[in-house]
Amino acid sequence: MMKDHARHYGLDARELTRLRAFHCIRVAGQISRTDIARELDSSPATVTAACGALLEAGLIREVDAERIDSGQRGRPRVMLEVNGEALAVAGIKVARHAIHVTIVDFKGVEIGSHLSPLAVSCMPAEALVRAVRQALDDALAALDLSVDAVAGAALGLPGFINGETSFMHWSSSVEERNVDFGPLFARHLPCPAFLENDANLVAKAEQFFGEGRGLHNFLVVTIEHGVGMGIVQNGQLYRGERGCGAEFGHMKVQFEGALCQCGQRGCLEAYVGDYALIRDASVGRQSDAHKSLTDILESARAGDRLSGEVLERASKILGVALASLVNLFDPQHIVIARLRPRFDDVHTQAMMEALRRNTVQVDAPLPGITVRNLDESMWARGAAAHGIEMVSIMKIRAGRDQDAA
Ligand SMILES: [Zn+2]
Repeated sequence: MMKDHARHYGLDARELTRLRAFHCIRVAGQISRTDIARELDSSPATVTAACGALLEAGLIREVDAERIDSGQRGRPRVMLEVNGEALAVAGIKVARHAIHVTIVDFKGVEIGSHLSPLAVSCMPAEALVRAVRQALDDALAALDLSVDAVAGAALGLPGFINGETSFMHWSSSVEERNVDFGPLFARHLPCPAFLENDANLVAKAEQFFGEGRGLHNFLVVTIEHGVGMGIVQNGQLYRGERGCGAEFGHMKVQFEGALCQCGQRGCLEAYVGDYALIRDASVGRQSDAHKSLTDILESARAGDRLSGEVLERASKILGVALASLVNLFDPQHIVIARLRPRFDDVHTQAMMEALRRNTVQVDAPLPGITVRNLDESMWARGAAAHGIEMVSIMKIRAGRDQDAA
């Protein structure tokens, strides 16, 4: 897993150990050097050297010695933690109608959030980056923070995105295909910025703040306008060779089936994404019959047959697709995060039933499944968690030049 980091970020072996130690400290909250060495299966001397460099860079700090046995005057045990005050990072999520900005300290503790409305949901890349700059400026002004306080910003977009290179192959939020966001960020943003797939960011948020804490292998499925997925394997986000894997929403569930917003046919999200439900529940009606998922849910509750059928079919198709995930990955846990409104229990039950019936039969319990509400703050917190990682990689690499000097 960590080999991926080395390959993609150009870190040498010594820098990689620093990054691994930093990651370990972030996940643990507070941890001793001895426990880091055990966790990383590394020698105490190597870990001590790596932590020394992180301390010198100001990324971590030693905390008040905690006695191993409080009843004795033993040798104090020095713990390490991320230096929260070291730097601030902005997590930014571009949704369809708003840009959500969350500023966090280096530990990921929220300093403040701000929501800027977005007039159109799809625009040219440059206009989007300008809108992000405006949203960031508005957030900093509202929180009375200086732009110099922000060491980096991570931006989450839906679509096929290479998180290592900030290259976007396709996104439903951007008019063009194949956009390198690096130069646009450099031109318009006041700090280093990093682009990442938004479902990967939710996976990061779950890993650091949610259900994924302490888990090594889990999946996060996001359902809103489209369907996304983040894969955490051996404690690391799995991105694939071209950086655009884990496209669960575009897994084909029907040969030559319904048209998807990606341009292909038969994709999962063409059956279960919000836009697909609105389309399918509006067949044969006036064009504005169902404008949102809430309309469809209310219609179904009022006894409308088509609305009920569309929701039931979507729930079953999602359950079958989730079973394929269990069959492929055998994860410890799957988090299903859906934007409001909440589905009725009957639909969740239909999904779970389809999942159970289509999972390969072994004499072992199914992985844990959590269905949770997905709010914009979760995306932005995940973006901030990603920003912290990218800024620390930047700082670790900057240390190289000092080491050489
Ligand atoms: Zn598709």
